[in-house]
Amino acid sequence: MFSHRLRKLHQQRLNRIIRDRSSAQASRMFIEGREFINFASNDYLGLASHPEVVKAAKDSMEEFGFGSGASRLMGGGSVLHRRLEDAAARFKRTEAALLLNSGYAANTGILPAIVGEGDVLFSDELNHASIIDGCRLSRAETLVYRHRDVEHLSQLMEGQRGRRMIVATDTVFSMDGDIAPLKEIHRLCLAVNSSLPPEDSVLLYLDDAHGTGVLGNGKGALEHFGIEPEPWIIQMGTFSKAFGSYGAFVTGSKDAIEWIVNTARSFIFSTVIPASAAAAAAKAVEIVMNRPDLLRRLWENRTFLFDALKERGYDTGESETPIIPLKMESVEDALALSRHLQERGIYAPAIRPPTVKVPRVRITVTAAHSQEDVHTLLNSLGEVRR
Ligand SMILES: *Cc1c(COP(=O)(O)O)cnc(C)c1O
Repeated sequence: MFSHRLRKLHQQRLNRIIRDRSSAQASRMFIEGREFINFASNDYLGLASHPEVVKAAKDSMEEFGFGSGASRLMGGGSVLHRRLEDAAARFKRTEAALLLNSGYAANTGILPAIVGEGDVLFSDELNHASIIDGCRLSRAETLVYRHRDVEHLSQLMEGQRGRRMIVATDTVFSMDGDIAPLKEIHRLCLAVNSSLPPEDSVLLYLDDAHGTGVLGNGKGALEHFGIEPEPWIIQMGTFSKAFGSYGAFVTGSKDAIEWIVNTARSFIFSTVIPASAAAAAAKAVEIVMNRPDLLRRLWENRTFLFDALKERGYDTGESETPIIPLKMESVEDALALSRHLQERGIYAPAIRPPTVKVPRVRITVTAAHSQEDVHTLLNSLGEVRR
């Protein structure tokens, strides 16, 4: 049944394999008995195995056990979940926040909750798969605008007056590491909204999965651009990347959050994350807010590596963040480079179609990498003739 389909996938060299760690998620990790320097993780600040984060999870289990046992509306939540939401609302400076079970669950639950049939959704062509799936589930008409092209977005918005409109974008694009032009998108939405009654405002939906804990002193993309939160801006972020835990959140006005509580199916019909994950995330938020040196370190590492890669002539696309793609001519080249790095003890998988159009080795550098780690990467890359 599947063997035929699989054969084709293998022939195209597009089959994926799972390789599991036998050690913690960290800048150094073991796979199949071998140590690797990890350049694939989204654990930007090295918090996934930070002792205080681990302790917060452990301590919470003493009191709250492990499983949460039910969805949030059925008593699955605890004061630790609530506290995490309060922390999210505080650091995003919004009225309210709600915990979702993952970034994927957030996008596929919230978008269909806030727009539907007859509405129109504008989506950047490189948005994350979970936004694309959220668009599909919403049944709103989805108009895809060219990547980061606000002019194109503006053209598409023309002629859609009278319908409920929403613009959805990643803040940091997960495979390219570039940043959405939020100043321009914000200005465009403001201009359109100035001629609309507040209840018909264009909504702006931001997926800040890779901006949270990374941009704007850790507070995310809006802070990075100096844009004030407003009732028509809905921000989603995750605790699974820079915050080193699990789960996601959405922030916005009290009303927006109450609406989502009442309508988002991935919130209503799914068991809430364990209290220990919430406790770990809350500790991570606290660490990020109190330890500017971690972010400084992340960005120092990023700048150093990026400049060195540029100097060596790599095509890093438009990367502006710790996500740095090394774009390759072919799937073969991307696989060969990834394999070469692996032989040198460096873990950086090739990313291939259909995830991306242009094959690449995707590098993510974190605050936990030492200078030596970065040099090892650069030296290993230097051995490859291109
Ligand atoms: C990782 C990611 C998600 C999904 O978040 P999870 O918590 O891993 O489910 C959503 N959007 C973007 C842009 C992401 O990079």
